[in-house]
Amino acid sequence: MICSGILTKGCRKKLKPRQVFLFNDILVYGSIIINKKKYNRQHIIPLENVKLDNLDDEDSDNLRFGWQIKTPTKSFAVYAATATEKVEWMAHINKCVDELIKAGNRPAEEHAAVWKPDKTSNICMHCKKTQFTVINRRHHCRSCGDVVCGQCSKSKFLIPNQSAKPVRVCDGCYDKLGKMRTSFKEKNNTDIQSDGKAMNKIENMNESSDSEDDDSPQNLSKRQTEDDMCRSLEDLTIDEKPTFYGSITKPEDKRLSA
Ligand SMILES: [Zn+2]
Ligand SMILES: [Zn+2]
Repeated sequence: MICSGILTKGCRKKLKPRQVFLFNDILVYGSIIINKKKYNRQHIIPLENVKLDNLDDEDSDNLRFGWQIKTPTKSFAVYAATATEKVEWMAHINKCVDELIKAGNRPAEEHAAVWKPDKTSNICMHCKKTQFTVINRRHHCRSCGDVVCGQCSKSKFLIPNQSAKPVRVCDGCYDKLGKMRTSFKEKNNTDIQSDGKAMNKIENMNESSDSEDDDSPQNLSKRQTEDDMCRSLEDLTIDEKPTFYGSITKPEDKRLSA
């Protein structure tokens, strides 16, 4: 293990503390229950797919020391307790990613959009008209992450990294993705899977599609089953402060077995 500690994760509605473990090739995070002694719902992210993006501090919201963790299936923001911890975490994660790529792993080409938190806007970010209410609910475009109204996100598009089924996208992204697909087809002169299904306008939008907890497990690849992971993590003690087991300043670190 390279480091472990608690990071605050930006979720759809609010920030939540998450216990995070960094290994050579995976990042594991889960919610903390029972006096920080046990945690559940572990999520495992293969690191070669990860890309980090810095976030500037937003003093107004007290959102500081944050960055984005982007993966093909899901992307989100996390916040460390101090500037130093942020630097350490980012450096350690980036180092692991770099070493995996150097060792021949292929980095992901596309990353999922980070969902803008619900409270970012009280009106649709696209039409700028619809006020969100109990009836006019917020939706998230799976392609750009914007908070949009139902009218502005009537379509679904197949984004294979995120789901086997077409997912909700805003009208702007729907057009853009459609054009990209067309030019891709023309360039390659092949018919990529006729997916009338994917392009269909959805008449009866199923509201439940958007209500899923953004922490629900997605199709993360599992090198270890979550049960195994929980068992092996159970023996670890958890501290507020992150523990960095390796020094990033070490010139050569032969922790990679591959
Ligand atoms: Zn709208
Ligand atoms: Zn969009």
